[in-house]
Amino acid sequence: MKNAVLQRCAPVLALMLLLTGCSVNPVTGENQLSLIGESQELAMGAEQYTPTQQTQGGQFYIDPELTLYVREVGNKLARVSDRPDLPYEFVVLNSSVPNAWALPGGKIAVNRGLLTELEDEAQLASVLGHEIVHAAARHSVQRMQQGMLISAGVAGLGFALSDNEWAGLLMGGAAVGAQLALAQYGQGDELESDHYGMLYMKEAGYDPQAAVELQEIFLALSNGQQAGFVDGLFATHPPSAKRVSENSKLVSEIGGGGYRGADVYKKKTATLRKVQPAYDAHDEAMKLASDGDMNAALNKINEAINLLPREAMFYSLRGRIYQEQKKNDKAQADFDKAVSMYPEMFVYRLNNGLTALQLNNLSKARENLTRANEVVPTSIAFLRLGDIAVKDNNRKEAIAYYSKAAESSGDIAEEARKKLAALTQ
Ligand SMILES: [Zn+2]
Repeated sequence: MKNAVLQRCAPVLALMLLLTGCSVNPVTGENQLSLIGESQELAMGAEQYTPTQQTQGGQFYIDPELTLYVREVGNKLARVSDRPDLPYEFVVLNSSVPNAWALPGGKIAVNRGLLTELEDEAQLASVLGHEIVHAAARHSVQRMQQGMLISAGVAGLGFALSDNEWAGLLMGGAAVGAQLALAQYGQGDELESDHYGMLYMKEAGYDPQAAVELQEIFLALSNGQQAGFVDGLFATHPPSAKRVSENSKLVSEIGGGGYRGADVYKKKTATLRKVQPAYDAHDEAMKLASDGDMNAALNKINEAINLLPREAMFYSLRGRIYQEQKKNDKAQADFDKAVSMYPEMFVYRLNNGLTALQLNNLSKARENLTRANEVVPTSIAFLRLGDIAVKDNNRKEAIAYYSKAAESSGDIAEEARKKLAALTQ
């Protein structure tokens, strides 16, 4: 799989070889190899931000106020960072996995599943300050240069339900973005991000002690191996006893005390906490469906829909349960609903298109698969667009789509190559 990643990154690597150079790290002041210039760094983050958000659950649109709040806290820290002029953006993602990530150029995301674990604004500031340093100190850019990106894992087309079930099907920039968001940072990068993140906290008026507490909480949880955490924050930002002791040492040097914002945090996350039972039901339904118990999964997801009828993600899951039960009409109705609530979300479009194709509604299938690919290109969408073109007797278009799908790897690429060979012989 590492090879597949390298293949995807090959154009980037080739480009980098043309631009070899050395520069001073903007955060640490140390000299370092700089193969990727700032304009490419910014372009990469800007291009991959939306697709990466979408492969990690999409935006938490149910509570836009919460995103405004996270943005406000993030900007306070970004302003006092070593790169205040980066085009920082902050977003809350619709995922129960407790995680946060930063793409190059200051494009940052926090999952709602992490926000429910925090106790006050200072702890949120410690998460955001840490991510700001990853971006400002170009940690993922460095890792790209060193070819250190690891695979986000491959998933098949079955009912392998997880937040990254499409990871193996992603193509182009979306694949690179997912790698950047999910790859593990080394301990050196983690310590550096904690250190400067705490300096930013102090500068912005927050109590840096919150960063120590956060590490203690996470270390305790990771030792207990609580499910979800293992694939979330702990996988990408591994906690360690060393991080706790280094952070404590820094607090004694720079002095503790400062703003905590427990009441404000409680108020700002009140909606999130109120709708939590609906997401718990959804996550349970997801588990039941991956275990193959579709009837129980259906009951659970209906419970979630009753609790929070304006959440598109719930209809999307119910649609996939109906798909498994071969109830394509019902599946289509649910995917329609999900698309109407969150039209930009690629995975709702993708499922809607695949179901429309099964129901032989070619124009609807084509429209939805095309829209999905505009945001997050996947090999499966290219393959099925090829099938639609064949049904329409459009040989030229079919060849173009199959060729695209054949660039990927695995079963999808195999099927595309066979169909391509049949068309071009
Ligand atoms: Zn980290």
